Amino acid sequence: MHTRVRCIGPPRTIPEVSRPRLRIGHLYADEMNIYGDRGNVLSLQMRARWRGIEVEVEAIGRGAAPAASGFDLLFWGGGQDRDQALILSDLLQTKGGFIQSALAAGAVVLAVCGGYQLLGRWYETAQGERLDGLGLLDLHTVRGPQRRIGNVLVDASNLGIEPRTLVGFENHSGKTYLGPGLEALGRVLRGFGNNGQDGTEGVRAGSIFGTYLHGSLLPKNPHLADLLIGLALRRSGGAALPRLDDARELDAHAAMVRRL
Ligand code: GLN
Repeated sequence: MHTRVRCIGPPRTIPEVSRPRLRIGHLYADEMNIYGDRGNVLSLQMRARWRGIEVEVEAIGRGAAPAASGFDLLFWGGGQDRDQALILSDLLQTKGGFIQSALAAGAVVLAVCGGYQLLGRWYETAQGERLDGLGLLDLHTVRGPQRRIGNVLVDASNLGIEPRTLVGFENHSGKTYLGPGLEALGRVLRGFGNNGQDGTEGVRAGSIFGTYLHGSLLPKNPHLADLLIGLALRRSGGAALPRLDDARELDAHAAMVRRL
């Protein structure tokens, strides 16, 4: 049997005080978590721990937000229209300022599908109801005539990662349009991405990453996971990210690339 060699837990030679830490906030972990989105948090958590980085994950649900300054990375998953409507007033009242302050303090944000849509100006549900978003990004989402469901292959060369592709699974009715100043996360090679028309998928705006890719995204795209971890750790002075044995993850990635 193939045994993976991975560094589990903190290396003993590193004294406790100098061990890097990664604090992850999982936004609406209970209310917005579909198509394996929680796997993204597990992936970040494990990939950091395998390198001896101490990780803390905190679910941030409805109600008062915690102090924003302690978070290195915020993850926000997707949701059905009713989930998005359910959290909306809480989002606008308590989480907009929280996310903004976390970003100002250097945090990285990864938002998938429903979460990604609500970072923008508005989201129009499949029923035609317009939900106000946070307006943190100049993008908006309108309903489409049919759901966009299937596997997606994206060229993300602009991120400077290797491999240059991202793979994932999308399932959304919303069609997202980026404002003129925004850069997409990548270009769609297969699937629909943001809107099925302009070839864009997701958004990258400074340390905000938005995407339609579930699947989960990060287990099959370990190179993106490491990009996010590396950026998140810059806040606390950075930390070396030794290579992990990603043979299986990259096999899964390559299998999807071949299939699509
Ligand atoms: N409800 C949204 C839509 O259908 C988001 C779906 C999702 O998060 N997968 O577009």
